Amino acid sequence: MSETQADPQAVLQRHFGFPSFRPGQRELVEAAVAGRDAVGILPTGGGKSLCYQVPALILPGLTLVVSPLISLMADQLRRAREVGIAAEALHSGLSGARRRRITDKAVAGRLRVLLVAPERFASTTFAPLLDRLPASLLVVDEAHCISCWGHDFRPAYRELGRVRKALGVPALALTATATPRVRRDIEGVLGMRRPFRQVGSFDRSNLLWAVRRVRSPQARTPLLRGLVRRFEGARLIYAATRRRVERIRDAMARSGLRAEAYHAGLPDEERSRVQEYFLTDRRPLVVATNAFGMGIDRSDVRLVAHDQLSGSLEDYYQEAGRGGRDGGAALCVALRSPGDGRLHRSFLDRTHPPVRSLKGAIKLWRDGRLGERLTRRRAEGAKLRAVARYGRTKGCRRAVLLGWFGQRLEGGSCGGCDRCRGWSGVLESVGSR
Ligand code: ADP
Ligand code: MG
Ligand code: ZN
Repeated sequence: MSETQADPQAVLQRHFGFPSFRPGQRELVEAAVAGRDAVGILPTGGGKSLCYQVPALILPGLTLVVSPLISLMADQLRRAREVGIAAEALHSGLSGARRRRITDKAVAGRLRVLLVAPERFASTTFAPLLDRLPASLLVVDEAHCISCWGHDFRPAYRELGRVRKALGVPALALTATATPRVRRDIEGVLGMRRPFRQVGSFDRSNLLWAVRRVRSPQARTPLLRGLVRRFEGARLIYAATRRRVERIRDAMARSGLRAEAYHAGLPDEERSRVQEYFLTDRRPLVVATNAFGMGIDRSDVRLVAHDQLSGSLEDYYQEAGRGGRDGGAALCVALRSPGDGRLHRSFLDRTHPPVRSLKGAIKLWRDGRLGERLTRRRAEGAKLRAVARYGRTKGCRRAVLLGWFGQRLEGGSCGGCDRCRGWSGVLESVGSR
C-alpha cells in the first residue's frame, strides 16, 4: 500500500470528496488505524460511519461492522459502496446460497467491510468462520445496544467480547449515547484495554430549555395551544401515546389551528403525507409520538413541546434536539404535572417488573438471568429519576442535562433556560410573539 493511500486526509478527499474531518473523526480514524481500541461518542448526524469507513479503506484486512437492524445495514451498505468500498451485508433476509457466497468472499479477502447483526455470531454456519476471516477491526455501531444502561439494549450484544477475542482484533465502538455508565459498560463488555475515548460536546447553545408546571391533566392542552400560537417556523408537539396525540390534534383543530397527527398506528400513506406537510408547509404543526423524527430533516423547527417528559433524558434530548438545526434559537419545553412520576413508574413495573418472590428470584438465577434482570431494572429506575430531577430542579436545566451525559457546564448556569432567565426571559430570547 502506498504512502498516500494510508493517509486519512487523502482518503477523505479522494473517496468522500469532503475537505476536512468533523470534530472527533480524525482522532477516531487514527486510533483505529493504529490498532488501538477506541470509543467514539458523537451526536446523531456527527458522522460516525466515516470513522470506520476511512480505516476500512486503509487497513489491510476486513472491517467487521456490527449493526442492530437490517434497515440500518442496508443504508450503511449503500453508503459504503457509494464511496467505493467493497462491502456486503449478511442478514436473515438473504437466501442461504447468497449468504454462502458473501462469506466465501469475506474469507477470500475480497471484502473491505462486512455488516452483520450481533445475532449472526451465534449462527452455526457463521461462528466457525471467525477463525478464517482476515479481520483487521471489529466495529460496533449503535454501541449503546451493548449496555444495560442503553435504551435499545440487546442481549446478543453482550457476547461481542468473546467475538472480538476470537478475532483477535481491536474494537471501535460508536454511539450517540454519552452517559458515562453506558460508556464504561461498552468498554467492559468488549474487553477494551486502555481505549482511546472521543466524546463530542453535546451542548447546543441555541436551544432554550424550560419546563411548565400544570396543576391538572386538563390544563395541558390550553397551555400547548397558547405556545404553538407564539411561534413561527415549524412546530412539533410530542405526546406519550397515540390516543393522546389524536386528542391534542383534535383540540387544536377545534380552536381553528391546523395540526396533523403522526404515530406508528397510521397507514404508511398517511404518515408520508404528514412528513411531506412537515417538510414543505411554511408553518407546520405536527403532534406526534416518538415514532416521528428519524430522518426528518427540517432545520427551522422553532418549538419542540413535550406534553410530558420522555422516559429517559437520552430520549428527551434526542427528540428536543430536532429543534434549531439551522443554528437559530428554538424552545424545548416540557409540561409536568404531579401525576407524571407515577405513570412512568407503573410503566417501569410493566416493562421491567421487580423480582418479588424468592421463588422467582431462584428461577431467574438458575436460568442465569437474575443479574441482568436486576441491573436492567436498576438502570431503568435511574433513568426515570434523572428525568424527574430535570423536571423538578431549581437550578440550571442545561446543567442537569449535560450532567447526565457526563459533561460539566462551565459556571454552572447557562442563561438559556427558564431557571437561569425566567420563563418570560426565555420567550424573549427565542423571539416568540
Ligand atoms: P451518525 O452515524 O453519526 O449519525 P452519519 O455517519 O450517518 O452520522 O453521517 C451524517 C452525515 O454527515 C452523512 O451525510 C455524512 O456524509 C456526513 N459527513 C460525515 N462526515 C463528514 C465530513 N467530514 N464532512 C462533511 N460531511 C460529513
Ligand atoms: Mg450512525
Ligand atoms: Zn440554565
